[in-house]
Amino acid sequence: MTNTHTTNESAPGPLLNRRSALGALGAAALAGPALAQYGKRGGETAPDLRALMWDDAKGEYILPPLPYDYDALEPHIDTETMRIHHDRHHAGYVRGANSALAELAKIRNGEVDAGYIKNWERALAFNVSGHINHSIFWYTMAPTSAGGGGRPTGALAKAIDRDFDSWDKFVMQFQGAAGSVEGSGWGWLLFDPFSKRLRIVQTMNQQNENIRGGVSLLGVDVWEHAYYLRYQNRRADYVKAFMNVINWGAVGAMYDETMA
Ligand code: MN
Repeated sequence: MTNTHTTNESAPGPLLNRRSALGALGAAALAGPALAQYGKRGGETAPDLRALMWDDAKGEYILPPLPYDYDALEPHIDTETMRIHHDRHHAGYVRGANSALAELAKIRNGEVDAGYIKNWERALAFNVSGHINHSIFWYTMAPTSAGGGGRPTGALAKAIDRDFDSWDKFVMQFQGAAGSVEGSGWGWLLFDPFSKRLRIVQTMNQQNENIRGGVSLLGVDVWEHAYYLRYQNRRADYVKAFMNVINWGAVGAMYDETMA
């Protein structure tokens, strides 16, 4: 597999540096029919998150559009949460990442004291990781009417059976891991290139607790901002509901790309 994983970005992998069938589409193009196709089961391609997250011409991070309406994941994830989460929280990570890049450029130009490198590297790591994590999050969910929920098929299904014994045991472990993250963080299904197996990991906040080179296939955001409006302190209920909106077609396509 090819991989340009960097230390601070907790959800990298082939989806960031491989072309997919969506590779020719920029964020603007995706506002059209491509989004309508998104989430259909069968013959999926992995979302080209790189094109959605970074503007090559401007040299800055950009906010990907949601690939469905704000209310599309109801009743599992509520409209207001989706609106605030995408438009304010995710947008904030994008702004924070670009600010950190700009400040580091000033330091390199001698306009700002080099003592601030530590501060801005930390901010960059946090915000870029948040940007990547949320981008994967939106694009690995789908309304139940467009293929969300159910269970994976094909190679990913076989790998889950191999590495977690069965689908039911995978679900139990994934929900348990996500539900028991201490404080803010994420539960992930990732591909471990060292063992060539799937692993479930917990990450704290936005940053990298994943193994280096691991390919994040699926993540559930368990920061309170992801669920508190509807679920309050019932995080386990939210994680259980999340299972109903997983776009296994997209996750499976990312796995297929990883293994190709
Ligand atoms: Mn979030």
